[in-house]
Amino acid sequence: MKYQEVIESICREVKPFEGLGKQADYIPALARVNPDQFGICIHTVHGDVYSEGDADVPFSIQSISKVFSLAMALNLIGDRLWERVGKEPSGTSFNSLIQLEAERGKPRNPFINAGAIVVADILLEKLPNPEEDFISFIRELTGNPDINYNEEVARSEREKGYLNAAIANLLKYHDNIKGDIEEVLHFYFMLCSVEMNCKDLAAAFLAFADHRKHFSYGGVDLSSSQVKRINAIMQTCGFYDEAGEFSFLVGLPGKSGVGGGIAAVYPMRYSVVVWSPRLNQKGNSIMGMKALELLTTKTRESIF
Ligand code: GLU
Repeated sequence: MKYQEVIESICREVKPFEGLGKQADYIPALARVNPDQFGICIHTVHGDVYSEGDADVPFSIQSISKVFSLAMALNLIGDRLWERVGKEPSGTSFNSLIQLEAERGKPRNPFINAGAIVVADILLEKLPNPEEDFISFIRELTGNPDINYNEEVARSEREKGYLNAAIANLLKYHDNIKGDIEEVLHFYFMLCSVEMNCKDLAAAFLAFADHRKHFSYGGVDLSSSQVKRINAIMQTCGFYDEAGEFSFLVGLPGKSGVGGGIAAVYPMRYSVVVWSPRLNQKGNSIMGMKALELLTTKTRESIF
């Protein structure tokens, strides 16, 4: 497959979508980002890397980090995780309180905020040095020792984090958070604040694309079946309440974030990351989704 040619033509064909939507602006650090950027990177299981556009520009990975924290939690407590977090799509917005209240503090899945906050609580309880251990895991996955948190982003998320604080309180009320709420929220916002570029993220997601290879990075050892299940949850829950639309248009497991990034995998073939800050109403990157739709259409490669 001539991926370089394919992504060059994608870059031309997403141009008409430039300027549509707007970037997340709930915190200053995200509002400041130049919204008119677009990057794409494909990393194949054979080790070939293809990229175009702003693929070297670091951005806030936001909710994409929920894939990494889920991987760490599964490594630490295995299937016991599913006693505290479900694995069904939520069909509601990522920060909804209503469903969490109706379902008595058991979040639908690990990719909505409530689920990721429970996962953060588990990591805080089980890891000797949670912040260092998490970032070393990502550095190992990518092979880039310079990846880091953005503490300014984490701090302003906390300052504006009223809804996430409400979620954490509801979880605590239902005894689904063991630790101190402030510490759990701080760690959750740190997880969201990690900055990576398309190339780093594609390198990190390759480990999820190729689940025949033993998954062992930074002390996280997952079986091939666990990696397969993480992909399954990406497929059904990775795009807020637009997971069905993404499946319909693109047909790859993946995870998006409000920083405008989308990471996806074609199992056994490649990982792909697109980034463009302007979002649609559901919080997914407009040019990013279009680019991935074009990718699976042009290559006629999709899991379906
Ligand atoms: N830090 C954001 C929040 O918790 C994450 C949003 C996202 O990317 O979904 O609200």
